[in-house]
Amino acid sequence: MVNLPPPPILKHRPPRACYIHVPFCSHRCGYCDFTLIARRPDLVDDYLTALEIEISSLGSPQEVDTLFLGGGTPTFLTADQLRRLFDILLKWFRLAPGYEWSIEANPTGLTDDKLEVLEASGVNRVSLGVQTFDSELLKLLERDHDETIAVDAIHRLLARFSNVSIDLIFGIPGQSLPHWLGTIDKATQLGVQHISTYGLTFEAGTTFWSRLSKGQLQQIPDSLEREMYEAVMDRLPTSGYSQYEISNFARPGFESRHNQVYWKADSFFGFGPGAAAFVNGIRRTNHRSVTTWIKRTLTGQNAAGESEQLDREGSAREAVMVGFRQSQGISLSRFKDRYGIDLPTLAGPEFDKLVADGLLEVSDGHVRLTREGRCVANRVIVEFMG
Ligand code: SF4
Repeated sequence: MVNLPPPPILKHRPPRACYIHVPFCSHRCGYCDFTLIARRPDLVDDYLTALEIEISSLGSPQEVDTLFLGGGTPTFLTADQLRRLFDILLKWFRLAPGYEWSIEANPTGLTDDKLEVLEASGVNRVSLGVQTFDSELLKLLERDHDETIAVDAIHRLLARFSNVSIDLIFGIPGQSLPHWLGTIDKATQLGVQHISTYGLTFEAGTTFWSRLSKGQLQQIPDSLEREMYEAVMDRLPTSGYSQYEISNFARPGFESRHNQVYWKADSFFGFGPGAAAFVNGIRRTNHRSVTTWIKRTLTGQNAAGESEQLDREGSAREAVMVGFRQSQGISLSRFKDRYGIDLPTLAGPEFDKLVADGLLEVSDGHVRLTREGRCVANRVIVEFMG
């Protein structure tokens, strides 16, 4: 009998990234199921007080490489509230040299006084929710901006920040392939550094979901949605944007460093309602109700909705799930070193079949989704989930 050495202890590096969830919006868009509360500016001050209480659980200031403020719409806050938020963050987080500090924003209400606060505080990346430049489709999505407001916001952001990203949605009912290509071209002509593209999803509980069930909205055919995804994979690289992740494209050097922390399954702090955190191998997700999170935090109660300690195998499977999103794929040797498991064994005999079917490729010591595999990523990833 061979005595095998025990697998190495799985070590999680301390977080060098932090996510802050800012759960406010002027209204809820028809397709959105994010953690947020609409039309409640009266709650912002209590939220900020609760946020500071939650962050102070760190005990001492932490140095981070990346800070990401997502929502919701962080720029729903007034300039004064943004100042207060940034004071809290800068008290608890030291930004390492070369840091990336991102904030999500929406075109409506992105006033110059807010941009000044962002710039003066050290924000150096803004991710703008544009979705489409077509005012009719924007109305259908129940967004509160139109093409003019979106383009103006992009121009004003580019005048202040050297790293501007926009989100675009494809697969909107009524959107055609030429129309989608026009959207992509307009984005590249405007000169943003980073573009994220997402297929529209109909999530249970949204007004889009009920409109779909009542036949008031029609989903575009799967074949057209796939053509749109393939079109963006073809089109953006011709304008200098490389696809570095399933949904993300960047000019060289403008890949989101914060999101790469998630895709590499590294540790990160997370604060605010609905925020996830991954610290010491424990995944914690805060309560999704904004009012409950505020109330619990202000009264000293636990505001975490759920938490889970991932074992070695669970960590390995999760690393595959997020790691395959990256165009570079997953390093086989680093995976083995970190989890003590050969990546292919997680899928068993299916691994060879996925390679033979042209959905996965193995080269340069990495395993990654092929172009075909990216189109059916969930189908591939599920084979590694056990
Ligand atoms: S602006 Fe964004 S976060 Fe807010 S409701 Fe609309 S989609 Fe959701």
